[in-house]
Amino acid sequence: MDFKDDARIDSDSIDSSAGGPGRGGGGGGRIVLGGGAGVVVLIIALLLGINPGDILGTDDTGTTTRPAATSTASSTCRTGADANRDPNCRWAAYATSINQFWATQMNGYTKARIKPFSGQISTACGMASSETGPFYCSGDKLVYLDTNFLSQLLNQLGTQTSTAAEAYVIAHEYGHHAQDLLGTLAKAHASGNQTGSHSPSVRLELQADCYAGAYLKWAADDPDDLIENVTSADIAKIVDAAKAVGDDHIQEQSSGRVDQDAWTHGSSKMRVYWTQRGFNATSLKSCDTFATDDLGG
Ligand SMILES: [Zn+2]
Repeated sequence: MDFKDDARIDSDSIDSSAGGPGRGGGGGGRIVLGGGAGVVVLIIALLLGINPGDILGTDDTGTTTRPAATSTASSTCRTGADANRDPNCRWAAYATSINQFWATQMNGYTKARIKPFSGQISTACGMASSETGPFYCSGDKLVYLDTNFLSQLLNQLGTQTSTAAEAYVIAHEYGHHAQDLLGTLAKAHASGNQTGSHSPSVRLELQADCYAGAYLKWAADDPDDLIENVTSADIAKIVDAAKAVGDDHIQEQSSGRVDQDAWTHGSSKMRVYWTQRGFNATSLKSCDTFATDDLGG
């Protein structure tokens, strides 16, 4: 996956301010990590999750912040040529492209920005660390990401990092932003944060995968988009990444056994199914994971 040399990058698609926009002064609220179950919840939540505070029921903000990673969207990231030359510019390029996609899909779309960080950060959704993995916080409309840790995370899950896999991961998080704007997120949360193979949580996640697939198809086809091409090799990498982040795969890796009742994101098979379904969709209506009991599992 390459970027079109002359396409413009929106430098405002990255929040590079130091520290987090969290409410602050929360007095050390932390994401609770108690016992084996808690560990499993966190491990699952961290994989392209909505913010773990939602799942764990914590909503406090802490006080520890580290400066955001630098040089992710400096003034040097202006065009696709910059992103092709300087890997640090690719995050702003993904965000620009995905925001453009959603602007074509939704009236009144307001963009989300990527917030790069390293170490720990205070967010409107509570404290997060690199190990939390990429996540979207509806409280501040930011996609949080440790850009250095992402490749490590993917490698640990047995898949390689690539621009295609990264674009899929980021597009999935933006899928949650779209769900936020559309009211889907609030509706699903109102029904409780249940887990299980057909739970609202899994439906939300699979829909975000479907939206990511739809974005990638748009990026592959749109003549003016920042993305030059999405090759069949890219698709294979995306499918690999979707497989790697399946709940069953993660459970096998972390505990050696599969427990469907604990699923929050869906199995590898389900995630691949919905990502591909999005890629083949002619309308986002095809991504209505709440309207069907056949979730591709
Ligand atoms: Zn997610």
